[in-house]
Amino acid sequence: MSDDIAVGGGATPTPDPDGPDGVRMTWNSWPRSKVEASKCVIPVAASIAPIRASPFLVVLPYAPLRCKPPCGAVLNPFARVDFFAKIWICPFCFSRNHFPPHYAGINETNVPGELYSQCTTVEYAPPPLDAAAPPPPPVFLFVLDTCLIEEELGYVKSAMRRAIGLLPDHALVGLITFGTQVHLHELGFADMSKIYVFRGTKEISKEQILDHLGLSSAGVRHGAVTGAPRYTKGPQPNGLHPSTSVYRFLLPASDCDYTLNSVRSPISFSHIFEAGNRALRCTGVALSVAAGLLGACVAGTGVRIIALVGGPCTVGPGMIVSKDLSEPVRSQKDLDKDAAPHFHKAIKFYDNLAKQLVNQGHVLDLFASALDQV
Ligand SMILES: [Zn+2]
Repeated sequence: MSDDIAVGGGATPTPDPDGPDGVRMTWNSWPRSKVEASKCVIPVAASIAPIRASPFLVVLPYAPLRCKPPCGAVLNPFARVDFFAKIWICPFCFSRNHFPPHYAGINETNVPGELYSQCTTVEYAPPPLDAAAPPPPPVFLFVLDTCLIEEELGYVKSAMRRAIGLLPDHALVGLITFGTQVHLHELGFADMSKIYVFRGTKEISKEQILDHLGLSSAGVRHGAVTGAPRYTKGPQPNGLHPSTSVYRFLLPASDCDYTLNSVRSPISFSHIFEAGNRALRCTGVALSVAAGLLGACVAGTGVRIIALVGGPCTVGPGMIVSKDLSEPVRSQKDLDKDAAPHFHKAIKFYDNLAKQLVNQGHVLDLFASALDQV
């Protein structure tokens, strides 16, 4: 479909495996019958990138038209439109919706951009409601697995530095490293390396995280509700951030390079391997700490938690396999047979984490690779 649009726009078509919608599936088509589905060894899966940039994306300078509550779906090319009665029928809930007055001019030959059949994905760029108040800076919190061999760790760190170099200068960057324990780096403390340590074996609540970090005062909660005014105040005259401010842990991307270089030695601290065992990796607690910190302090603002993980979670909440290498990581078949020992506990933990992140409006990107069983 991207080729169609490219030709239509007069540009050179470029191969784009995901198409303009950013959707890629393990098969080109769904299995058509139960028998076909049962023959699939790999589960039917789709990777969806809803905010992926595409040079062919149509940008509409107005707000999307939504179906009546509780549906809220957005007008799209799959909606049936009655141009005479000025009504559209939602393809999800089949509600009939009247077009608002500013759509009065539409007819078969004059349709808005979101109804073009090739525009199954569009970008809405409505004018800002309040142009005077600048939006809070975006936050990128890196969660880095340190149970890697030195060479891999080097690649990860250089990739991370490259990624930070591509961020806008005012974006805020934070760093959590983890192995058997979770280390939250206080990047705003420039004089020396300062780290908060969390045990990897125990589930930890949001309140406990904030208590531990000294962020649980009422003032911080107030700051979180009213946006992010604390950042604009910047450090105190002595160059330090107030101890109750989350910005002790977040540095502008432009200031990060030196600080990330200087945290080099603690990064490889938990680099411990025992023969016959997997590395002890408390991915669950690390993600909890990341979500808890950001949820209490910058909820509702643009945040990405970027987790770079080199193997399965083997300790604490969210573990999916024990550290003993004689126990293989569960396969899809084990899950089907309900023979995966840690599965139910883990899924409960990650479901709760997902709910927490959705409530906070935050994104978790998980980049993971483990080849020890291939
Ligand atoms: Zn609807």
